[in-house]
Parts: sequence; structure tokens; C-alpha cells
Amino acid sequence: MTTTAKPRQSFVPVPAESHFPLENLPYGVFSTMADPAPRVGVAIGEMILDLAEIARAGLLPGLPEGVFAAAAINPFVALGRPVWSATRKRLQELLAADCPTLRDDAALRARALVAQGEARMHRPVEVMGFTDFYSSREHATNVGMMFRDKNNPLLPNWLHIPIGYNGRASTVVASATPVRRPLGQLKPPADEMPHLGPSARLDIELEMAVIVGRDTALGDVLTVAEADAAIFGYALLNDWSARDIQQWEYVPLGPFQSKAFATSIGDWVVTAEALEPFRVEGPVQHPAPLAHLRQSGPMNYDIQLAVDLAPEGTDALTVCRTSFRYMYWSSAQQLVHHASSGCTMRVGDVLGSGTVSGPTRAERGSLLEITWGGSEPIEFPNGLERRFLEDGDTVTITGWCEGEGYRVGFGSLTGTILPAQMPEAWKS
Ligand code: MN
Repeated sequence: MTTTAKPRQSFVPVPAESHFPLENLPYGVFSTMADPAPRVGVAIGEMILDLAEIARAGLLPGLPEGVFAAAAINPFVALGRPVWSATRKRLQELLAADCPTLRDDAALRARALVAQGEARMHRPVEVMGFTDFYSSREHATNVGMMFRDKNNPLLPNWLHIPIGYNGRASTVVASATPVRRPLGQLKPPADEMPHLGPSARLDIELEMAVIVGRDTALGDVLTVAEADAAIFGYALLNDWSARDIQQWEYVPLGPFQSKAFATSIGDWVVTAEALEPFRVEGPVQHPAPLAHLRQSGPMNYDIQLAVDLAPEGTDALTVCRTSFRYMYWSSAQQLVHHASSGCTMRVGDVLGSGTVSGPTRAERGSLLEITWGGSEPIEFPNGLERRFLEDGDTVTITGWCEGEGYRVGFGSLTGTILPAQMPEAWKS
């Protein structure tokens, strides 16, 4: 880990253990009762700095007019890396304790600083494409053992290709959006024929989302260095999954409806620049990847992750604590692979990392793994048990990097399960 200078102070109070000190300044999209138009802001302490307001006040010269008066961060992200960097520097300066510009302008402060508790958060990115990877060796091994072959869990391609599939951008939803239990074709092993019904093995996938920050032209490829520089930032991701639908449908083209009903993305996009001090080396890659995927140095991030599960009326229990550092394939390698055929990448593409599971039992990032296919239920202090998600259950994912005396965090990502809705005519 790179050592960082002592944290700089902001005139906006930043409580101890806050995810949002001056070192972070993650981007989100919010609205208020007083002004229901969604716009872009950065989190600082328990407040949001309204960047549309700051730009209107002339404090962000050089940016296109209205770039932050938008319902997504995409127009800003499209401006490119030098602008991301200059804007970060400028915002750190404007929010610093020793800068009088905003600090001493009570009228502007009243307009531009909004309490997070009074804001409604929206999905931060207009999701152009959603691709989901499968890049944790521990997760792929656990799933391979349960779904395929206990003695040979990794398929022969896994150590050579960052395995992924094209998912649904249309159902990437904001945190707190309720998640309807999906219907699907189910064929329990003992049944001869499939039937249609609500998933009985509804699961989470603890993941990180990469937000792609540059377009590529059809036919273009990216090197590891270019891919790394093309990543605008990261957000929390819960890739809800219906294991029973998945098990019946996934051969031979991969997951389809089992992953298409909802994927929740966190409110805050932490920039790659803010994560820079938390770079770490990933696992040793053996066999060595092909030349185009070869990387060196610290290409992973040590992001602490936790998953809380709260059945309705029951206190939340932390069911997983792990780190993003364990991922076998880095986000840069995923993006290189994605573009390597000449596939067009776009500003606002979201890449799911794949379920983040670590080496120990407490570090498994899905209920499928935590309960080992439902055979080892999670037990709550009040006697409740969970194998998979029940209606009314709420899942909350939290993520942060631990600095010396500060945290760079993602806030939390939550979702609650609603009962399935099945048309009468489909029940037979
Ligand atoms: Mn997934």
C-alpha cells in the first residue's frame, strides 16, 4: 500500500469512520423535496455537495454548461481522465478547511450543501451495457464443486480467460429498489418435467461494479494500461441470482433469466483516483496469462466488504466479510478481454466483477456458498434459519478502504425481496 499524507481537513464535519472524507469525494445522483430534478453531487461527511449548483456559481470553470445538471454521471465521465483529475483537485480545494471561497459564502453553502438524510438517491450511471464476470477463483471453485464436479471444479478455460456473459442493462437498479422474486422454469432433480414457479433458491452475489469511462471504436482493442486508465470508478453491486432457475437454464449458453430480473448498484461511484492508495497485488496467476492479459504490479484494490442479512422483523446478521483484493482476474484484465475481439466499449458500461469470495468460510460472497447449497443454514440468534432469501428479507452490502486515520468508502447498498407475482392462467 502506498503511504498517504495526513488527511486534509474539510470545513464540512467528517465524523470518525465516515466513508466520505476529503480523500474520497464519490459521485452520485440525487434529488430533494425542494428540487426534484436529479443532479450530480459528491459525498462529503454527512452532506452532498451539489455540483450543478457549484458549477452555476462559476466555481468549476472550463466544464461544459450543465454537465452536472444531469440524471447520470455519464456526461461528466465522458469528458475523460484529465478532467476527472482536475475536477477532483478543484473540489478538494473548495471543500478544504483553509479555503474561504465556499466556506465563507453562507448563501451558496445553504444552496449547495444538502444533508444526505434529506436527499433521495438515484441510480448514478445510465447503464449502457452490463457485463458480469466470474473472476473469484474461490467462488468459481465453490460453485463448480456444487454444480458440476467436486474433484474438478474449474473448467479448463477458467485460468486463461476472465469468464463473463452479457447481462441486462435494463434491470440494473438503484439501491433501495425492491426486488421482486422472479418466476422461472424450475426442474428439481427428482422431477421428470420442469414447471413454472417462483424461484425457491433466491440468492445474492456480492460484487463490485466497474464504470467504464471511455468509448472505444468498433474493432479497437485495449492494452492493460489503457484499460486501467479507462476505468472511471467503482461501486457496490448485488447481482441477485435465482439458483434453481440458473441450474436448469444455464447449459449451454450461460445464465439468462436467473440473472436478468435485478442487479442493484450502489449510490456512490468512488473514483479510481481515490482508490489509488489502496492498490494491492492480486493472487499470483499461474499459468501465466497470454501476452495481452499480462499485468504487473498492484492491480487489485483492498476494499473491505460486508454483507448483512435481515429477515423482516429480525435484527441484521453479518453473513460475510471479505475483501475485493482476492479477485484472480483484475478489472483491467476483464476490460482488456472484453474489448479484445473488437467489441465496442462505451462510457457508462458497467462490468460486474463476479461474486467476491475469499479463502475462508466467513468470506463467501453468496448464500449458495455460505449455506453450501442450502445444506448448512444460517442461524439467527432468535432461532430463525435461512438457506436462501425469503420474502421480506433485506440485504445490505457495505464497502470501504481502510486508510491511516480515514476511510474511503462506498456507503451501503440495500434491497428487500418482494413476493413473486404469478398470473392465474400460468398456474396449472
Ligand atoms: Mn454475478
